[in-house]
Amino acid sequence: MEPERFYIETHGCQMNLYDSQFIAEVLARAGSQPAERPGDASVILVNTCSVRERAERKAISRLREFAALRKRNPSLVIGVVGCMAQRLGSRLAERESGIDLVAGFDAYHTLPDLIRGARLRRPVVATVAEPRALYSLRPAEQTTVTAFVTIMQGCDNFCSYCIVPYVRGRERSKPHGDILDEVRRLVSRGTKEVTLIGQNVNSYSDGEVDFARLLELANDIEGLERIRFTTSHPKDLTVGIVERIRDLPRVCEHLHLPLQSGSDRMLALMNRGYAASDYAKIVRFARHTIPALAVTTDIMVGFPTEAEADFEGTLRMLDELRFDAAFMFRYSPREGTQAENLGDDVPLETKTRRLNAAIALQNRITDEKKSALLGKQVEVLIERESGKEQAFMLGRTRENWLAKIPREGVRKGETVVADVISATRWMLCCDHSSRKVGA
Ligand code: SAM
Ligand code: SF4
Repeated sequence: MEPERFYIETHGCQMNLYDSQFIAEVLARAGSQPAERPGDASVILVNTCSVRERAERKAISRLREFAALRKRNPSLVIGVVGCMAQRLGSRLAERESGIDLVAGFDAYHTLPDLIRGARLRRPVVATVAEPRALYSLRPAEQTTVTAFVTIMQGCDNFCSYCIVPYVRGRERSKPHGDILDEVRRLVSRGTKEVTLIGQNVNSYSDGEVDFARLLELANDIEGLERIRFTTSHPKDLTVGIVERIRDLPRVCEHLHLPLQSGSDRMLALMNRGYAASDYAKIVRFARHTIPALAVTTDIMVGFPTEAEADFEGTLRMLDELRFDAAFMFRYSPREGTQAENLGDDVPLETKTRRLNAAIALQNRITDEKKSALLGKQVEVLIERESGKEQAFMLGRTRENWLAKIPREGVRKGETVVADVISATRWMLCCDHSSRKVGA
């Protein structure tokens, strides 16, 4: 019999990217092989995101496109995993006739059996009310220069707009020994940089080790060059964590610290647990402690009842705190969250106008920050060849700026000192520097 050939399309955040790798590992262990294209696959899995409605709509349209492939391949199994699978369960299979399999987070270990079941009697739905699974990856022989390592799953914060605690379940931390083993295995196969990921990594605790200590333990791993982490929650960021960024040489000088809004009224309604002035104090302290620190954030506009004055508070914070970059979103109501009861009273045109104004302000600040780097030297960890420009390699600076550098004389996985010669909004254009790392 032909081996199963699987194709996984991943939507959403880094947690989903990690989960997709885990699913690929489970399927490969059961004898399946990855397919290059959906048209070559006998199983297509879409790993979905539910954070905003738009992400869900996109997943549905992709699932419909994949269902059309059945004309040529009637035995094709199409499955949904991730947040939408967990959130909608059997409702999803009832609504979309092209779906054969819906598998929530706790069903990933059993996907090979579920796929076999879906072939016999479609559709198969496997979700539990509250996911508890924690998974660790066994890195492949050939790994990438940079890798994500999930250190915790779920979230207990219940920000009023957010679906994550409902779909990913209660916060749970992986034992630190498992995390460090995973990082060591990655490093032994060539990974130079790990990003420790979770919904709120600052509250990591396995009962023995907290996040600051985990950073110290990871920093001791021989051969690992860089450690990043995301996402930090302002209410849980401690002085100890900031000091670890300053003191531990492998921990990069970058903090992703979602603000959401500059209005105290909005922050309270969002259940964020801090006021705008608390947030500003944290950022000032962190920058004072680590002068080279890059700070990025998430901003949401159009949360229920957001008035012009609230939004102006957000613009003021962007202006005053001068983030290096920001992800910006229009509020999207999510079924079952507390904010759903507040209605969705900010009209779409107003949300869009506010989003565009916030983006324009942030773009100006990001451009200014990039221009200030011209003529400076940065350390770039070379990650890969540039897909578009043969003559260049791509990498990132410690502050997480994307950078390109002429490929001659540089190797993947190497850290080089580079001179910044020009910059676009998305990229630093660099040249080789005569200085060496550590010199
Ligand atoms: N745990 C992380 C945090 O607290 O930032 C990540 C959560 S979420 C996947 C990433 C961002 O999506 C949030 O910071 C928020 O700005 C945005 N987001 C979450 N729920 C949203 C919603 N209902 N509508 C619009 N944006 C949302
Ligand atoms: Fe959602 Fe808030 Fe948890 Fe982030 S911290 S995942 S925004 S509930």
